Formats: sequence, structure tokens, C-alpha cells
Amino acid sequence: MKVYIDGQLVDKSEAKISVFDHGLLYGDGIFEGIRIYNGRIFELDAHIKRLEDSARAICLELPMSLEEISQATVDTVAANGLRDGYIRLVVTRGAGGLGLNPYLCEKASVIIIADTIKLYPEEFYQNGLDIITCATRRPTPASLSPQVKSLNYLNNVMAKIEAIQAGTLEALMLNEQGYVAECTGDNVFVVRDGVIFTPSISAGALDGITRRTIMKLAVESGYEVREVYMSRYEIFTADECFLTGTAAEVIPVVSLDKRTIGSGQPGEITRELIAKYRALVAESGTPVGV
Ligand code: PMP
Repeated sequence: MKVYIDGQLVDKSEAKISVFDHGLLYGDGIFEGIRIYNGRIFELDAHIKRLEDSARAICLELPMSLEEISQATVDTVAANGLRDGYIRLVVTRGAGGLGLNPYLCEKASVIIIADTIKLYPEEFYQNGLDIITCATRRPTPASLSPQVKSLNYLNNVMAKIEAIQAGTLEALMLNEQGYVAECTGDNVFVVRDGVIFTPSISAGALDGITRRTIMKLAVESGYEVREVYMSRYEIFTADECFLTGTAAEVIPVVSLDKRTIGSGQPGEITRELIAKYRALVAESGTPVGV
């Protein structure tokens, strides 16, 4: 496997960064997770744009132009001959001193890993996931905006630990006010009486690219989609529930906190959107040339 680091494609065993990198010392950096389907990178421009927004939000100067980052992403996928897989694009603040001051870091580092990923076992895509509500809350925008895809995922890691300790694979995270934000790495949707609802971005949900894709597909399929402030009540009483994310794709949820959602089976509209999502990703995106 070849990994891209600061302009070079190196063997995985040689892919190393400094222990003084503030990405490691302070979680000071940003990232994107991107999928490759059928030799094409799905929504590459949208991911690069979100990376730019994250960089701007944390005053991180990208060491390359957006076009160069896109090209490096394509080149890394091509160098690994990947037709289906997952890209982790990371920009760290770079090596600095042991103090916090990011302005003492020399230069941001760009790292691109192209590999494969399977977030949940296949059986859960067929039968649906059981999830729990965790005690760990999504941070408020008054601290670090939930829109920044930063390297500081400890909050989400703590939520994931709660899920695993409770015997499930995913946790529902509420915001400070108790409204539903999202799961540890996925956005949440529910269906009720044929209408599709998802927590509004301002409730602490990431403006997920899969979320946007599903909202568009749903509208094109004739469904009404509403972004709302949602509590657990709306999930407990929903007909269907599902999660979206680049790595997770679209996965049905059949229970929350051991309470069955709808029929306890993946719902009809969920299945329809999964099929439409799979068809879309197989035929769109930036060709990699492998
Ligand atoms: N929420 C969080 C916290 C995430 O990390 C992700 C994964 N990027 C998502 C939602 C889903 O976003 P996307 O569809 O852009 O992958």
C-alpha cells in the first residue's frame, strides 16, 4: 500500500510523521472520509470544499491548493489500484513545540490513505442495527462547532465506548438541550407517515455529504423531507429509522434503547433509499482511471 505524505507516495511502512505533530499532540487538524465506488471518487468536490471550510474554521492554512489536494487524492487511489474503497484525507497542523501555540508549527501536513473499510457487519444492513442513547453529549457550537471535522474525535470515541459497553455498535448522541444530534459517525433519519425527518444542522448534526445525497434522492423520489428539532420521542414513535455516512453508507436502525422502532424490520422507504443510493454511487463521481 502506498500512502501520500506531503507530496510523496511512500510505502505504508515508511509512512511516518513527527511525534511533535500537533495533530498527535493536540488533535489539532482536520480530515475527510471519502468513498471510491466502481473506479470513481464519490462527491470529491463536496469533501474538498468541506475540508476547506474546516481549515478556515480552525485558522489552518492548507499547504496546497484545493486542486492539488484533489489531484493528490486521485493519484493516491490510482497508485493503489483501488476501484472500491475508502480514502482518509488528513491535514495536521504540523510539527511544532510542546506548547499549544499552533503558530509555532512549521507547516501543515497532508496525509492521504486509500484503503477499504467495513463499518458494520453485513447482517446489520439486512436486519437493522440496535442502538442506544449515550450519556456523552455532542459539543455545543459555543466550544468547537460540530461542523468542523477536526482530529478531535474523543467525544465521539467516548460515545462509541458507551455503545459497545451496552452491547450495541452505535450510539445516538443528543445535544446539550437534549435534542437528537446524530450518531458517532453517522447522521440520523426517521420516517413517519411517509414523511422523512432529520435533525437540523443547528441541533449539532454534521452537514453530512451522505445526508445531503439521501435528502436529494428522497425529494427526487417524491418524498417530503423536513429538517427539524427532534427528540427521542420522534425516534421511538417513528415507522422507520436509518443512519447515513460515507463509511456506514445507509443502514437501517430497528431499535433505540431496546425499544422496537416500527415493525422491528428495516422499513420500506429505507430499503428504497438504500437501493437508490447504491445505484447512484455506482455511476457518479470523479474517475480515477484504474
Ligand atoms: N457525523 C459525524 C460525526 C461524522 O464523523 C460523519 C462522517 N463523516 C457523519 C456524520 C456523516 O457524514 P458524511 O455523510 O459526510 O460522511
